[in-house]
Amino acid sequence: MTALLTRTGTICPHIGPAPRVVHAAAWRPGTLACPACRHLLEPGPLEENTCDRCRTLAPELTPGIAAIGLVLLAFGLCDACADAIDPTPTRPTRKPRR
Ligand SMILES: [Zn+2]
Ligand SMILES: [Zn+2]
Repeated sequence: MTALLTRTGTICPHIGPAPRVVHAAAWRPGTLACPACRHLLEPGPLEENTCDRCRTLAPELTPGIAAIGLVLLAFGLCDACADAIDPTPTRPTRKPRR
């Protein structure tokens, strides 16, 4: 979110001041992309096998998405972390805004 407020980092040109759903990735801090520009968030060969919670290299990661307001944050977890936080909600998480 800091990237959106300060305009630092990489933001696709389609994201304007109007609120809309944007995509972010745990392995690309500061990068925000609209649904059409999700390729900006493609993980590199290293990120693709790095757990976003404990930063361990793992052969296979469990992908997950967390909704933070209008930001959909993608992340990948190793088996241990996936078990620890159980990232399979049956419905989208929606937190009330204070
Ligand atoms: Zn875009
Ligand atoms: Zn992990």
